[in-house]
Amino acid sequence: MKKLTDIPCTGCSLLCDDIVIDVSDGSISKVYGSCSHGTKRFKEVLATRLLEAKIFENGITRSVATEDAIDKAVEILSSAEKVLVYGFENSTNETIELGLALAEKIGGTFDTSPSICHLTVPLLEKYGVRIGELEEILDKADFIVFWGANLADTHLRQASRYSVFPRGEIVKTGRENRIVATIDVRKTKVTRIAQHQLIVNIGEDLDLISKIQDAFSQESSTEDDVAGISQLSFATFMHDLKNATFVAVFVGSGVMYSINVDQIIENIVKLVKSISTKKTCTVTPLAENLNSMGVTLISKKKTGFTYAIDFSNGSPVSNPSVTSVTNQLLRGNFDAAIIVKSDIFTHIPRSATKQLLKIPTIALEEIPTLVSEFASVTIPVTLTGLETGGYITRTDGKKIELKPFLKPPKNMFSEEEVLRKILSKI
Ligand code: SF4
Repeated sequence: MKKLTDIPCTGCSLLCDDIVIDVSDGSISKVYGSCSHGTKRFKEVLATRLLEAKIFENGITRSVATEDAIDKAVEILSSAEKVLVYGFENSTNETIELGLALAEKIGGTFDTSPSICHLTVPLLEKYGVRIGELEEILDKADFIVFWGANLADTHLRQASRYSVFPRGEIVKTGRENRIVATIDVRKTKVTRIAQHQLIVNIGEDLDLISKIQDAFSQESSTEDDVAGISQLSFATFMHDLKNATFVAVFVGSGVMYSINVDQIIENIVKLVKSISTKKTCTVTPLAENLNSMGVTLISKKKTGFTYAIDFSNGSPVSNPSVTSVTNQLLRGNFDAAIIVKSDIFTHIPRSATKQLLKIPTIALEEIPTLVSEFASVTIPVTLTGLETGGYITRTDGKKIELKPFLKPPKNMFSEEEVLRKILSKI
């Protein structure tokens, strides 16, 4: 039996790199230190994984060699007029770059699952606000704000490993020295650990942001309730915010459910910028999927856009109300799709799903999903972080190198290898 230490977990975008794993006879016998999502990622994925490449043709599904499935994928992509290249939020950075290269080469559209990162990253750049790095927050932040972020459902170790409970270099007693505030439209599991539980009326986030801004800059306080928050709760929140030295704001996908999400995020970023004039204040989006931040940053760097990137006229264009996956599917723009490790059926409306089911689809997947079940070509790939390495970008933008420790099955390629083969044959 081998005991492996400091293995990065690929269960979510925190990529906790302190996991200990016992490996015996080429498989995982025990996992230490991970949360339930991480343990599931390490253990269940091996038991449920896809093993056979398949082609669905003339109403019949047949198992084929992986190379034959890749050739069929090349045939579909080469003969299509307009291809959807979708997913990559659970892929390595190297694979994301290949996905963008493929979309560019075939004049397709590159899109990925909805993410708070898509909206936040360009605004951070626009207003010159820096993203809060998790290690710095652990060491120095004494006021933590979770805005629309229910960690208990998504990033289970966020509070215990990076932001609330651990001792830092400056915040030496950890939890005792940190004030936690949650801002949400309802109580969530994470509000239990917060001293300030701000329940904001639905649709009134902008009012709250504006009142925080006024109270912060004018050193005054309101005598009324604010967006459904009592005057007393608001005043005590402002008192602690003003007395803090390092404020770390985490923005979660709960904000995405607001109609005016763009305005809310822009105003949160502007508020953080304003607070930064008097003390350290950072904002960190909580990426929904393993590498939502990587897709966002790489797409932005390569094309200037974060999602819904259309290459059909040569140079990249993004106008989500026209170029997003849903809008283009509904207009019947695509005649083929390649989907890489993404559960697209849960990201698009039923009407768009119907359109997707009408066109040939290629799925690269680790485990069985609805996409792999309905795909014309299914290509199983090796398990990222367990069998194959590469880099993933953590939710705060830091690149984490994976440390694979298991041998993949014979004749199975990584997602990166499959895309390289497809690109070289098109
Ligand atoms: S919080 Fe995320 S990265 Fe950390 S152990 Fe859990 S699933 Fe893995």
